[in-house]
Amino acid sequence: MNKKIEWLENNEGMGLYVHIPFCTNICTYCDFSKMYYKKEWVDRYLEALKKEIQQYAIDVPITTVYIGGGTPSSLTTEQLQTLLQMLQVYTNNVLEYTIEVNPESMTCEKLQLFKAYGINRLSIGVQTFNEKILKKIGRQHCNQEVFRLIYQAQEIGINTISIDLMYNLPLQTKEDILKDLQIVETLPITHLSYYSLILEEHTMLYNEHFEGMNEQEEYTMTEMIREKLGQIGFHRYEISNFEKNGHPSLHNSIYWLNQHYYGFGLGAHGYLQNIRYSNTKQLSAYLRGEFLLCEETINQTESMFEALMLGLRLANGISLSLFKQRYHIDLLAYYQERLQPFFDQGLLIIEENHLRPTSKGMDLLDFILLELVD
Ligand code: SF4
Repeated sequence: MNKKIEWLENNEGMGLYVHIPFCTNICTYCDFSKMYYKKEWVDRYLEALKKEIQQYAIDVPITTVYIGGGTPSSLTTEQLQTLLQMLQVYTNNVLEYTIEVNPESMTCEKLQLFKAYGINRLSIGVQTFNEKILKKIGRQHCNQEVFRLIYQAQEIGINTISIDLMYNLPLQTKEDILKDLQIVETLPITHLSYYSLILEEHTMLYNEHFEGMNEQEEYTMTEMIREKLGQIGFHRYEISNFEKNGHPSLHNSIYWLNQHYYGFGLGAHGYLQNIRYSNTKQLSAYLRGEFLLCEETINQTESMFEALMLGLRLANGISLSLFKQRYHIDLLAYYQERLQPFFDQGLLIIEENHLRPTSKGMDLLDFILLELVD
């Protein structure tokens, strides 16, 4: 059991997510809500963001703050300061305060600013340490910039560092992945998000007719990565996320535990008092103050099912007693018919009063979730 996630499970966290949709270049595989950096747009965006946040009149303690993108570090130091000042009132007592950064847009000045405003976790977009592949996917940094950033962050006192890596990239071989993992072993990082490239329509790679691994190859690669990471002390606590020395992402764990969070900014999502909401993805509408796109009330049946689907992503699984406390329903009895085949196949187990995937179940989680939805 991961102790931090267990704590969060018992203490009902509240997250706050802020989306910064600007990037200095567009990656060939990217399907996120983003656009090219333009100073004037960012200035106006920050003003609109302030208005959106004020509308919510937040009066509950915030557990985690996450500034994601896009590329938040593409903002100038002054713009970042405006953003961090805007959030300061909510961040004073947070347990985890993360910002996503890309190495090529980071400076010592920005790191010092982050430290001064209490940011205690960096999430660095690395994707691979193979510079040829980096170019192919449209990333602008080199390995030296990654290493420098990690060591500077450490010197300044931001010690919780996560990197994003990807597999199933164009030109990437098994040996490339093994080399990436060898480099990971030498770095003082505590967290790793490792995703297989999902080829989305309307991306440059899709238009180039790139074909990634087939299902079996991907499964074999996932297993190899998990095994290697395990050997170097990274524990898989979520299907695509690994932590070392007890440093899971608390903010993302709030999502997986089906707890509540504010979401601010272009295309952001939030979940408050059983209402899921999404913001507009149109910058012009957002700048006019038309923030909200839609909201949906989640009824108890839907909420229980979401708790099941999200909770199974975690190695910790779902607490049966907390589920009962929240919904006044016995999870195992309610879902018995649907879950039984997975118990029989050794993909799910009950342990320490939690329903959780076995290691094999974690590898086949997509299959389990798909079957459950059906
Ligand atoms: S930096 Fe991130 S958000 Fe921006 S284009 Fe690349 S993948 Fe997309």
